[in-house]
Amino acid sequence: MIGTMLQTGLATLAAFAGGALGVAWSQRAMRRLPLLVGLGMMALLWVTLTDALPDARAVLSGPAFAAAVLSGFCLFWLVSRHVSHICPACALPNFDAATADRLQTNAVLLMVALAVHSTLDGVAVVVGGPLSGHAGREMLLAVSLHKLPEGLALALLLLGAGYSRRRALFWTWAVEATTLAGGLLGALALHGASASWLGAVFAHVGGGFLYLVLTTLLALARRRPRIKSAGKSSLPA
Ligand SMILES: [Zn+2]
Repeated sequence: MIGTMLQTGLATLAAFAGGALGVAWSQRAMRRLPLLVGLGMMALLWVTLTDALPDARAVLSGPAFAAAVLSGFCLFWLVSRHVSHICPACALPNFDAATADRLQTNAVLLMVALAVHSTLDGVAVVVGGPLSGHAGREMLLAVSLHKLPEGLALALLLLGAGYSRRRALFWTWAVEATTLAGGLLGALALHGASASWLGAVFAHVGGGFLYLVLTTLLALARRRPRIKSAGKSSLPA
């Protein structure tokens, strides 16, 4: 239990560091964000395709595996469609005055969506270990790698929504702390669970990651060049 909480803590710290960097160097962080997000997403995609999904498939039947992946994908799709962007970085490529206006009313929804997502990040870190040792280590690394730009993007979005630096940092850390809650939830719920249950949860989380990677990479590809000037007008230096 202590080991799993330490691992989830490590992933959470990466998000905290991202949030702190975003608040401290908002202009410079904005310029580096697409690169960091791209790297984080590639790591997540790699581990999902080479570890999470194959390990889950090994303990599940074909239909059960497909249903679990699809349920994870659809959960994130539903939250993104009806609540808010599940990845803050997806909102940033089109960041402009209109987005900033919308964000002022939607910042709470964005934080709710991110809290759902971060809880599942925590579950992912915890479930990989019992299923197969190497999946746990690689999932921890990939989740931590994408948590840095995730925290950074959330802090930038909250600054853009008009939050003071202190409030942006507080809420970024509060939202990202749900990763720890996810780790605890996963450790308690999956204690002594059968391999097929672990596989189903891992496949569900993997399906969500596939949605996240797909939408983020599409958003980055569609990124408009005026992000710099928009960032300058909307974010504090
Ligand atoms: Zn995440």
